[in-house]
Amino acid sequence: MPTLKSTEVLTCVRVDDMPVPNTHSFMSQCMQCDARIWVACSSPIEPKRMCLLCSGAHTEQIKKFGEPTVRAGK
Ligand SMILES: [Zn+2]
Repeated sequence: MPTLKSTEVLTCVRVDDMPVPNTHSFMSQCMQCDARIWVACSSPIEPKRMCLLCSGAHTEQIKKFGEPTVRAGK
């Protein structure tokens, strides 16, 4: 298993939101909600692919909980 940072997510537009992709893309699925998404053919293979909604929620979670390092007090 390749080690990846949990922050490495490729945000993809949903097929429902954009019937025709503006770049050369192939259809894939959001790893979170299984929505159909467009993945640009030129995009890297390794990052997780999520739709706009899920990647937004994912980013929010990282913002909220911050980096994994915990500092007790000051
Ligand atoms: Zn999703």
